[in-house]
Amino acid sequence: MDSSTGADCLFCKIRDGEIPARKVREDDRVFAFEDINPQAPAHVLVVPRRHFATLDELPALGAEGEGIVGRLAAVAAAIAAERGFAGDGWRLVFNVNPGAGQSVFHVHAHLLGGRPFGWPPG
Ligand code: 5GP
Ligand code: ZN
Repeated sequence: MDSSTGADCLFCKIRDGEIPARKVREDDRVFAFEDINPQAPAHVLVVPRRHFATLDELPALGAEGEGIVGRLAAVAAAIAAERGFAGDGWRLVFNVNPGAGQSVFHVHAHLLGGRPFGWPPG
């Protein structure tokens, strides 16, 4: 598995243990850790090991990219089940580009749970 590193990328550094984080899970394709600024009682970031900047790059990655994002969703669902809020309602959010609030340019999904969520999300 390609774990290429983005220049000066915060999440590559967390992946490689160069910056500490409260890691929740790790496998050959994705890793997950607690968000430093939680927006819900549970707020975990689920991140592909492979560096790519935004979800805009996903179509060009073909089957490999689809596999990574599938794993990412499966890991999020497993964490939701493990924490006991799977049946209550939880959210998996990708912010894509600054206009949607993306601030770290290494693809990641926000797993949010443990409170009610409104719609539209704002
Ligand atoms: P984005 O805004 O790109 O969708 O999400 C980036 C997320 O990374 C934010 O929710 C932010 O709180 C989180 N974050 C930023 N820096 C750090 C850090 O150093 N450690 C951890 N654990 N989370 C971080
Ligand atoms: Zn990165």
